[in-house]
Amino acid sequence: MKIALLTLLFALSLCAHELERVTLQLDWKFQFENAGFLMAQEKGFYKEAGLDVAILEYEGGEDIIDSVLKQKTNYGIYHSSIFVEDGKVKPIILLATYLQQSPLIFVSHTLIKEPKEMIGKTIMGTSNELKYSPLGLMLKHYNITKENSTIQEHTFNINTFIDKKVDIMSAFTSNQLFELDRRGVKYHIVKPLDFGFNMSASNLFASKKEIEENPQRTKRFIEASNRGWEYAIKHIDESIEVLQKKHGVAKSKEALLYEAYEIKKLMNLDFFKIGEINKELTELTFRQLKRSGFVDVSEELHRFSFDDVLKNIQSDFDLNSQERAYLQAKGKIRACVDPEWYPFEMIRDGKYVGIAADVMQHFASKFGIPIEHVNVSNWQESLTKAQKRECDIFSLATETPTRKLYMNFTQPYLHLPVVVVTDNTKPFTDSIAELRGKKIAAVTGYSIIEILHSKHPSIEVVEVKTIKEGLDMVMRGEAYGYIDNLMVVSSYIQKEYTGLLKVSARLGENLAFSVGVRNDEPLLLDIFNKVIPTLGDEKRQSIYNRWVSVVEEVSYFDKSMLLKAFGALLLLITFFLYREYLLRKYNTKLMQLSITDKLTGLYNRLKTDEVLEDEHKKVRRFKGYKTAVAILDVDFFKHVNDTYGHQAGDGILKELAYILKKNLRETDTIGRWGGEEFMIIFANTSLQDAQKVCENLRERVEQYHFEKTGITASFGVGLLEGERTISESISLVDEALYKAKESGRNRVVATSLSKQK
Ligand code: GH3
Ligand code: MG
Ligand code: MG
Repeated sequence: MKIALLTLLFALSLCAHELERVTLQLDWKFQFENAGFLMAQEKGFYKEAGLDVAILEYEGGEDIIDSVLKQKTNYGIYHSSIFVEDGKVKPIILLATYLQQSPLIFVSHTLIKEPKEMIGKTIMGTSNELKYSPLGLMLKHYNITKENSTIQEHTFNINTFIDKKVDIMSAFTSNQLFELDRRGVKYHIVKPLDFGFNMSASNLFASKKEIEENPQRTKRFIEASNRGWEYAIKHIDESIEVLQKKHGVAKSKEALLYEAYEIKKLMNLDFFKIGEINKELTELTFRQLKRSGFVDVSEELHRFSFDDVLKNIQSDFDLNSQERAYLQAKGKIRACVDPEWYPFEMIRDGKYVGIAADVMQHFASKFGIPIEHVNVSNWQESLTKAQKRECDIFSLATETPTRKLYMNFTQPYLHLPVVVVTDNTKPFTDSIAELRGKKIAAVTGYSIIEILHSKHPSIEVVEVKTIKEGLDMVMRGEAYGYIDNLMVVSSYIQKEYTGLLKVSARLGENLAFSVGVRNDEPLLLDIFNKVIPTLGDEKRQSIYNRWVSVVEEVSYFDKSMLLKAFGALLLLITFFLYREYLLRKYNTKLMQLSITDKLTGLYNRLKTDEVLEDEHKKVRRFKGYKTAVAILDVDFFKHVNDTYGHQAGDGILKELAYILKKNLRETDTIGRWGGEEFMIIFANTSLQDAQKVCENLRERVEQYHFEKTGITASFGVGLLEGERTISESISLVDEALYKAKESGRNRVVATSLSKQK
């Protein structure tokens, strides 16, 4: 007996030995919000990944970040994707994000239409939440502080709220709402997302050291955790039973079910894969934290995602001696490119530029020999030249059966969505298959043609030489649509066809772009496949930014550059609008991109602030560049509301927004600044010119036949000055507005008067 026991113990210890032991520190008690991890354990997913995972419940008071950083625990969960302490961002690496939207909201006894109305109230929340969460960002943005309101620490006792000891309480949509509903308590919700504030939650993270030391183990842990989550979401009842029976969770089945469905909603699975890291949102969160002063201005966002760190670890570019000798003998690599494919690549004045050009430059620097483009006047010429071996590579191309005859293709380095553009009258179709029998134009030689032929043979493809030729055919009704890459067509639509053409369908999958490599020199393929991973996300992003968004990179003031930047901005907006559309289709919203005001459709305050900041940077950077700002406030609007009702008031605001927008240029920005106040940002405009535009707007408003009653508005206008902070400049504009009101309303007053004093 004793021997048997010993053998058993020995066998067990052997088993345990094979599994690597790791710990996961949760940021809350066991409940559905961590069901995924518990189910990964329950179902043996961790074990299959070679791991023995200890999942630690939150006891209260643990410093999760610190214990992960000190490697006291291997992995941790945190409610934000950015970790801030004393204004500094902690060097924590994100492994996965489970909630794409924060569950944090405020509940209030009285209706709060705008966060401003929270001023003066008693607000309860945890001090961390009231800073580093969407709640904190919102409070800060609307200047709700302990000076003007009563802010108190969370008691975590729901009765504090129910008994009206506080007016407002922070809550999780997944928890407290259920309890309030159950107890029949009436409440109103203030959701930060409605005002443009969102963060991810349930973020899995580790220290950089942990990842560097155990990259494979970390990878296995992430994958098994994702599997666990997938299981938990698919088997909610079973998971709840495990929570209750095996982990002694005291919450009722109903409460857990409520939580489960709320958690599932916040995972936003129509749009995100389980565990997917949303880098855009993290970058936005960082900017917002910085803007709010929670993060020092000098701080920069370090490489924060597991993939990036991993790539960096693995990105040492190491050629063998044969490959090195090959490159040396070669001397230079000749690239066949598309001379007209803005912003991806183009030949301008004999120079090869664009995103792919920058990527090639990066590769060339790794190789130590140049990559030179071969001069051509169109893409077809490049295809011919490649067949004749007049070039060694395609810098940016998709793999197709025909091209495979003479070229090999590397792993892709760029993935792009493909869309069909039609005139404005055509409906949006979900699937490209619905375009059967229709004539669709595409540029000769583009891989899309081969894809259409093989996957959608019922679509009639009309070949054209250039993008413009294709779009013009659509304009003339000679083709139903034109098919190409989303970013390329967006830039064309925005440049020449605004209001005439639109994106109407999307190809199911993205096109993957690789380097095409001549297939008679196989070593070259290996070399390119080795160099591609050195193009980390960070590098990719910086190249991309150079061509599609960042104006700050321009070292001198040049109008054409600036116009290009504006174009790029519009392009991004088109892109975002398109994404918004997709999301709506899936019945979800991409919260971080909510930049519009719900009532008027104009930019909301958050976005307006962002434009102000961008313009302020330009003003400081470029000598002679001017940006003017106007604030307009409706005259006697209270009276309008009192006489015709609030709803009529809303209607007037909508109409007003429409008139203002219609009479502004594309480069002007208009946002809703407050209730019936609007801000207009006139980029690249002098004070005098802005004043004239305002005068014109004032007249238009005065003369417009509103449905209910006529209104007038007063304007303050001034410059966004480089020597002053944004808020100083805005105060001056406010003063001017005040003067306009004081001197009789329905007029425009510029700041210069107030400044001369
Ligand atoms: P003044 O000429 O001095 O600007 O007079 P005013 O009555 O317009 O005064 P003020 O600008 O201080 O007040 C703005 C009013 O606008 C208060 C509020 O009732 C109303 N308001 C603010 N936001 C909205 C909204 O979204 N819809 C409606 N209908 N009314 C709003
Ligand atoms: Mg007002
Ligand atoms: Mg007013």
